[in-house]
Amino acid sequence: MKVFAVAEHRFGELNPLSIELLNLANKLGESNAVVIGKDVGKFAAELAKYADKVWKIEDASLENYNPELYIDVLLQLFQKEKPDVVLIGNTAQGAEYAPYLAVKMKAPIVTDVVGVSSANGLVASRFVMQGKIMVDLKVKSMPCVLTIRQGAFKEGVQKNGKIVDAGIKPSKPAGRKFLEYVQPAVGEVDITKANIIVAVGRGIEDAANISLAEELAKALGGVVAGSRPVIDNGWLPKDRQVGISGKVVKPKLYLALGISGAFQHVMGMKDSELIIAINKDPEAPIFGVAHYGVVANLFDIVPELLDKLKGK
Ligand SMILES: Cc1cc2nc3c(=O)[nH]c(=O)nc-3n(C[C@H](O)[C@H](O)[C@H](O)COP(=O)(O)OP(=O)(O)OC[C@H]3O[C@@H](n4cnc5c(N)ncnc54)[C@H](O)[C@@H]3O)c2cc1C
Repeated sequence: MKVFAVAEHRFGELNPLSIELLNLANKLGESNAVVIGKDVGKFAAELAKYADKVWKIEDASLENYNPELYIDVLLQLFQKEKPDVVLIGNTAQGAEYAPYLAVKMKAPIVTDVVGVSSANGLVASRFVMQGKIMVDLKVKSMPCVLTIRQGAFKEGVQKNGKIVDAGIKPSKPAGRKFLEYVQPAVGEVDITKANIIVAVGRGIEDAANISLAEELAKALGGVVAGSRPVIDNGWLPKDRQVGISGKVVKPKLYLALGISGAFQHVMGMKDSELIIAINKDPEAPIFGVAHYGVVANLFDIVPELLDKLKGK
């Protein structure tokens, strides 16, 4: 099987997910990395350690990610090289251009893939229903496009691949232009530096109840963070959001109150040293990553915890 993995980079750094794509590519067959940019020699050299072949696509107009130009150059390469499988990271970038690319290639797409087998045709596994059910999807025709979840293919083999210049340039200028990267403002609390995080989810029910989490965080010497609905509801500022569209945290203690454990949240906290979850639903996926779990109403447990911490 001929597999092409499209690498991702930003601010001069290769996204490590690019290597994970190659780990999967090597399992499936001939691994090809594609790296697009202005001057990508450094990335190509790194990718060559894990790929049979690395294709460089370089042009001044490709300095910053642009979905139109990516599609343009990738289609040119794929028309010549005829991949069976195209692997793209399930990132903000990948989620933007992979479906567009699949349509242009007239190829089926499976997004957010966490497992792939090729023993009996190509089967891609992904979660549905907020991470509660895993489904196996048989890919009926090739070529196909798969977007891959970070962390799903960490193990791989080393290679010493050949680096080739694909000799491809965008066929026309893009309709939209890159202007600037806008970095999020730094808030008064940096949750990525905290040793103890009390994180609240929709189970906290109301803005007025955030004070309960704040009281607990204060008693523990920690800070309060939240899941996305808490931020979207305006109960906590944006810089307190944990997850793929928020921050990645690795505190010594992560206390999750009323958080279901959707993968978008879990990706931001799963490497915490100690995870304790309080949730009234025994089936909540958060218990799959928690070291300790309490199946209970947080409004019963947190006041009791506070009493204990205050020595009452
Ligand atoms: C592109 C994209 C990006 C996303 N990025 C993020 C992200 O960065 N971070 C993030 O968090 N989410 C993100 N999400 C949203 C994510 O999919 C989930 O919807 C979200 O994490 C759910 O938040 P929650 O667990 O607080 O709410 P819910 O899923 O509604 O869970 C609430 C939980 O609270 C429990 N509960 C309710 N009442 C109580 C109580 N009294 N006591 C104890 N337990 C109680 C319930 O049993 C339930 O498990 C993203 C989604 C998309 C599509």
